[in-house]
Amino acid sequence: MPALEIIQIPCLSDNYCVLIHAPATGETAAIDAPAADTIKAALSRNNWRLTHILTTHHHNDHTGANMALKAYYGCQIWGPETEADRIPGLDVTVNEQSKLVFAGHPINVIATPGHTLGHIAYVLPDDKLAFTGDTLFALGCGRIFEGVPETMWRSLSKLAALPSDTTVYCGHEYTLSNGRFALSIEPENEALKMRMIEVERLRAAGLPTLPTTIAAELATNPFLRTNSPAIRARLGMESAEDWQVFAQLRALKNKA
Ligand SMILES: [Zn+2]
Repeated sequence: MPALEIIQIPCLSDNYCVLIHAPATGETAAIDAPAADTIKAALSRNNWRLTHILTTHHHNDHTGANMALKAYYGCQIWGPETEADRIPGLDVTVNEQSKLVFAGHPINVIATPGHTLGHIAYVLPDDKLAFTGDTLFALGCGRIFEGVPETMWRSLSKLAALPSDTTVYCGHEYTLSNGRFALSIEPENEALKMRMIEVERLRAAGLPTLPTTIAAELATNPFLRTNSPAIRARLGMESAEDWQVFAQLRALKNKA
């Protein structure tokens, strides 16, 4: 199976749409659809035609271009069944039991509730790719709008358990502010310090800091490091449950 071609398109103020293109079949899927004109321009630059939209969750900055893109390309829209009534143009409802295939590449759905209750991630196991929407970000995680911290913690734990060499694409470019918070929590983390030098260099050059990998997040993302003795000591939570440490980190980030 030839490799997929992948491009990441900055949309709106800090969203990403990711296009995955299969040269073997000519199919192209968008992971989320924030802005129709921006996505259409990227497709036409590459001479690609949009065949699928894979929706991670119902928020408008991820679904706002669904109807315009569907009208223009006739693409099929997939999305989480529990948010079906809130996702414009949805054709195929999916859940963790769905057996999805895009251009011959199997896709697993992982339920990742917390940011929204129906939020899902798409994982292509053979390609070692994960699209985590607004659940896992580089050096951070999504805000908990519809769930409770324990729910979000379980969702992040599922993503953290993916093979460590999985490449991860996320819904937003939040890495710089996430990283500043991460450094405030774990200033002695050498891998984090090194990573932030690179993040600052990339952002100063106007370049994306994504994709990331599960390995990089396990080493530097405080929300996946709730078992770190240094983080627990800093929070005074040496004997707390992991999800409680997570909840405290998320509360502190909300105030940062
Ligand atoms: Zn969102």
